Amino acid sequence: MKRAIGLDLGGTFIKVGLVQETGEIIKKAQFPTKADEGKKETVIQQMKNAVSSVWEQGINGIGIGTPGVVDNEGVVFEAPNLPGWNNLQLKKIFEERFKVPVVVENDVNSITWGEYLFGAGKGCRTIICLTLGTGVGGGMVIHGKLFRGAKYSAAELGHISIDYKGPRCKCGSIGCVERFVGRDYIIERAVHEIREGKETLIYQLASQKIENITPKIISEAYKKGDKIAGDIWIDVGICLGAMLASLVNAINPDRIVIGGGISHAGEILFETIKKTIKERSFRVLSENVEVVPAELSIDAGIISGAALIFQS
Ligand SMILES: [Zn+2]
Repeated sequence: MKRAIGLDLGGTFIKVGLVQETGEIIKKAQFPTKADEGKKETVIQQMKNAVSSVWEQGINGIGIGTPGVVDNEGVVFEAPNLPGWNNLQLKKIFEERFKVPVVVENDVNSITWGEYLFGAGKGCRTIICLTLGTGVGGGMVIHGKLFRGAKYSAAELGHISIDYKGPRCKCGSIGCVERFVGRDYIIERAVHEIREGKETLIYQLASQKIENITPKIISEAYKKGDKIAGDIWIDVGICLGAMLASLVNAINPDRIVIGGGISHAGEILFETIKKTIKERSFRVLSENVEVVPAELSIDAGIISGAALIFQS
């Protein structure tokens, strides 16, 4: 049976594991990324140590999920939060060191492939994957292949504009969906309502401190029947649904897989997304599309990294 090492490079931790072709993790480890030391060499050394710690002779390769824009030669062009992560020949560096095939992919594209092969996208041909957190990450598998675009890791779905006259996004564009549903902007909505003097449980659950408000607290307030919290999640769902309706028209997916911390808002979010997609996309296309939560758990990055090796 094929075996591969999957490595998930995060801003704080590197997670690594030896994975079987079935998606089962045989062994795993975690190392600090040490990005705060400010040197790319330190981070690369940590990654090499991580791979060595789960190494086994005869493996089929190493799959690496990294933040940032990656090209199809395994060069990372830029990654915010990682010092010196520009034009970095990550694939070459790891192939020279370990003498096995190495695939480097943008982390959300990697997760998308993992969900397709082992998770909520299993059995489909065409899926869209969204991860909702600080930002909105995206990936697509089209006709059974990870969609990479012409040269670079495509599918920056968080930067699809849903309001051409809307607020400026930090990417430079206007009205990007991330500008409405990124973690901080969801919190901002709650803060705005409180400052307007609206009565909401969110404030009490945050011990009457604005800085304590999190999406989790907004969810708790909603579950206790808070109207403002419910309205926030409905509006977040409409924003995501509007963006996804356009994508449904564009690529006609079988399934849309949604993960990340913000997705834990649960049913109210998913139901609003589904309703909005139905209202705004072509009927025949929206009728068959399923919207489901991501399935790969805490080790998603490890399994997905290895899945990059199993794709051939
Ligand atoms: Zn943007």
